[in-house]
Amino acid sequence: MKDDFTIKGEVITALEGVEDPEEGENIVDSHTVEEVDVDKGVVDVVLVMEKSRDRQQRFGIEDDVYDAVEAIDGVREVKVKTMTPEALEREASGEAPASPSGPSGGAKPAPGPGPGPGGPGGPQQAAEPKATPLEGVGKVLAVASGKGGVGKSTVAVNLALALKEKGHRVGLLDVDIYGPSLPTLLGVEERPAVSNRRILPIEAKGLRLMSLGFLMDEDSPVIWRGPIVTGIIRQFLRDVDWSGIDYLIVDMPPGTGDAQLALAQTVPVDGAMIVTTPSDLSLVDAARGLEMFKTLNVDVMGIATNMSKFVVPDSGKEYNIFGDPEEVAAAAERLEVPVLGEIPLDPQVRKGGDAGEPVVIGHPDSPVTEAFMGLAEAVEQKKPLGEDDGDEEGGEKGLFSFLKK
Ligand code: ADP
Repeated sequence: MKDDFTIKGEVITALEGVEDPEEGENIVDSHTVEEVDVDKGVVDVVLVMEKSRDRQQRFGIEDDVYDAVEAIDGVREVKVKTMTPEALEREASGEAPASPSGPSGGAKPAPGPGPGPGGPGGPQQAAEPKATPLEGVGKVLAVASGKGGVGKSTVAVNLALALKEKGHRVGLLDVDIYGPSLPTLLGVEERPAVSNRRILPIEAKGLRLMSLGFLMDEDSPVIWRGPIVTGIIRQFLRDVDWSGIDYLIVDMPPGTGDAQLALAQTVPVDGAMIVTTPSDLSLVDAARGLEMFKTLNVDVMGIATNMSKFVVPDSGKEYNIFGDPEEVAAAAERLEVPVLGEIPLDPQVRKGGDAGEPVVIGHPDSPVTEAFMGLAEAVEQKKPLGEDDGDEEGGEKGLFSFLKK
């Protein structure tokens, strides 16, 4: 087996092959790499980037680092952590400890019943847990996408609100660790409280919410990978009190990998929806996402086409900005999944997201809200609630849930 010293040398050489597009040189020469640490084949890489750095660029570099280091023979695990120069300085002055193996550097570790192997407190591999249903939760539905920027979080939030409008009790869990956007999309700044060693979801806009964003400080763009992601997802499902809801919508990170696996291994997932735009590239990615869920035996409910067409407000003329929605329909047919809904491109959607007032609440009578209601209806039809779904103890709550419909 290769020793850590040799691996470290190879890691640095590999990092010299990763370009920093902003600096026009590799990330070692541009001093973006702050630290490389190797312990028994586990590699920790600390990167430093300004907070103002473009998000996609940052993720691109992190992905390249991850890929380059992972390919090295003898590397068992790769952990990439990105910090701002300010956070690094604070850490150096001893203000905030930042171990790449935990949600530190500004993030508050979520409380739970001890730092069990599944918690984000340590890099140890947990024994494979068996997926067990969440008590008092009807259906667990994943909203996923093959790549970022297709509007997955926007769809997840508005779908959750549309289901609520239809009289359901809805929880929304944001495990998009690359950019937890739920706090912004819903304009929530609270931190969750803890009761009886369980985290209480934040209640806002009639939904129950949890997001890593509620636990992170603004200036700590910290990224967790691999087992840490798994730990966070498990903790957000197991240690948060979700009981008494009909639908739990899980906003997944883009792409395929650890998160999907972690979710499916923690709870039985009743269905997954893949969000895509009609552009070719995102369709290919969507197909990949779909296959991943199939491999995990998760029922893929179908595809939601976002930004499908732009309707000019005055003339009513339609334009296909991101490609032809018909192509999605054809691709869906090839993949043998239905198109669950088509959400038009509408500037109100973006404005609503930026203002913390999603379009389903802000413009309840708009065509785009109508499209989201249609999507919710498709979900209801695909995953109708059973008699005991969301029923805590078969008692009062179940009765209320029945009466509401
Ligand atoms: P993802 O979660 O896939 O990364 P987001 O939900 O963050 O994507 O959306 C990316 C951007 O696109 C946001 O600015 C959002 O407001 C905007 N957006 C999403 N859906 C629409 C839509 N149907 N019409 C207009 N803008 C949209």
